[in-house]
Formats: sequence, structure tokens, C-alpha cells
Amino acid sequence: MKLGCSYFGNRIVRHVAADMRGLARHHFTYALHTFSEFDLAFHRKTMKEIVAATHDAGMEAHLDPWGVGKVFGGEAFSQFASEHIFDACQILDDGRPAALACPNNPLFRDFMMEWIAAAAESKADVILWDEPHFHNPNFLGGRAGRWGCRCEFCRKLYRKTRGRAMPAKETPDVVDFKSECLRDFLNLLMERSAAAGLRNALCLAPRRDADASREDWLAWAQLPYLETLGADPYWQWLQKPVEIVSDYSALIKDLCARNGLEAQIWIQVCKIKRGSEAEIGRAIELAAAEGVGNLALWGYEGCAHESWIACDDPPRAWAAALRALKKF
Ligand SMILES: [Zn+2]
Repeated sequence: MKLGCSYFGNRIVRHVAADMRGLARHHFTYALHTFSEFDLAFHRKTMKEIVAATHDAGMEAHLDPWGVGKVFGGEAFSQFASEHIFDACQILDDGRPAALACPNNPLFRDFMMEWIAAAAESKADVILWDEPHFHNPNFLGGRAGRWGCRCEFCRKLYRKTRGRAMPAKETPDVVDFKSECLRDFLNLLMERSAAAGLRNALCLAPRRDADASREDWLAWAQLPYLETLGADPYWQWLQKPVEIVSDYSALIKDLCARNGLEAQIWIQVCKIKRGSEAEIGRAIELAAAEGVGNLALWGYEGCAHESWIACDDPPRAWAAALRALKKF
């Protein structure tokens, strides 16, 4: 006799509840739960239970549209993109669709409203709008040397706002246009979320140096329904020294102070190289020294559960992070 049993461990609420109590014992005040399209389709009630378990542990529950449409950060696949490859995905400059939704496409905007409704239904406290972006040639699923989006909605909007056809090359003006489109998209999502009783947080990905990001990020800081603005300067991922955490923390802190927002910095506790775990403590010190009052780790137990982003030595990385946070 052989005996088997299926095991989908990551959404077993009894385990989640124990982990939430563990985080609370370490004085965390909130837990961020990824809420992917897979969760939306198949874990909708489970997510409510996970949010409740987080509240029961005495913490706030934050949700992240993890990989949704592939427009937000995260490794999760997008069912929306595969179902709508010909009518709602980004079109790159080679004329072919890429497997990520276009933020200007009305079908995707409607889909996001459904995601927000489910997030509100879960009774979560905050939505973290994580790294909203157009096609990135250097990330998962990106096509090297290509840019987007040149779909009919983007080209029409470009002509309407610029009074001329969208160029075939990604000029600085096209880069500005894309940033404006993302802000318009996020404003719509944040307005709906706020109306549903959810607070809005935003995490911007460092693509340029902190100084070069200032003007663009200032425009993001002025979004009317935003309460918390953050960034995720994952220095080892970006192959930079840990000191960049200081630069981005100072920028975020300044933008937040000018716009009445709370400053948040995400600390890299994923893909940390063996032997360099002390840098996690250094990053936490640097962010705190700039006056950032909301520090968050990505992620739990050094991401041991996801080998692609796990630290080389997850227990050691996690212990280093907890040790550094103890001071606060
Ligand atoms: Zn488009």
C-alpha cells in the first residue's frame, strides 16, 4: 500500500497564525501578505482568515498586489496577462505583445477594481502598491532592448496629451509620459481603496541614483490618497554598497516631510550573500539614522520558503535583522 496526500503549505491558516504570533512577539506592528492573482482566484476566503489571524496576533494586515498583471512587483504569474494577451497586454516597440497588462487598458483597470474589492472584503488595513511599472527589459519575462507600451490606448493618450504621434524610440518625454500614466493609474486605484476604507502605501523601486530620482518621486509623493511612501533600496540585488540605503532613506524622508506622508524603507533580507549578513543591521541603522519611522523586512525568515530569492543562509540573515531591530 502506498499512501499520499497533497500539501499546499503556504496558505494553511493554522501555520500562518502561529507565524503571526511569532512576529508579534518580536514587536512587529504589521505583516504584509502577498495577494496574487492565484490568491484572488482560489484563496479569497482564505485571505480573509489570514487577515483575521494577523489582527488576532495584535498586528495590522497589509496586502500587496503581488505580480498582479505583472504591473506590480513580485514573482507570481499573471493569469490576466495570459488571458488577455491580445486585448489588454503591453505592446512593445517590436509590435509584439508582452505578458504584462497595460495600466492604461480599461479591462485591466476593471480587473484591479475587483482585486481592491476582494482586498477590502478581507478587512485588511493597508494596501502596499508595490513597484508599479511598465515593461522592464531586465526583469522576469522582459525582452532585452525593447520598451513599451505602444498599445492603442497608450498611443491615443500620448497624442491627446502631447499633440503628436508617439515616437518609435523611448525618448525622455516618453519616459515622463509613462510615469504620468502610472500615476494616473495609481491615483484611480488609491481613490477606490480609500473609499473602501483601506489606507494606501506605495513602494518605489530605485531605477536611478537617489538624486536623479528626486523630481519623478516628488510627483508620486503628491498623489492625494497616498499616506505612506517608501522605497526598496536592495543594495546587494542592485550590486551597490549598503550605503545607498542612506541616500534613498534621506530622499524618502524629505519627500514625506514635505507632503505630510509617513516614510517607509524596505530592508533587503532576501538574496543576502553568505558572510555578509551584518550588512542587514547596517542598512537598518542607516535608514533609522535618516529618521525613517517605518522599517520593513523583505522578507520573513530570510525568504527561506522561496529558493529563488532566499538568502544563502536564511536563519543567519533573519537573526541579524531581528538583532538590529531590537534597538528600536
Ligand atoms: Zn498601453
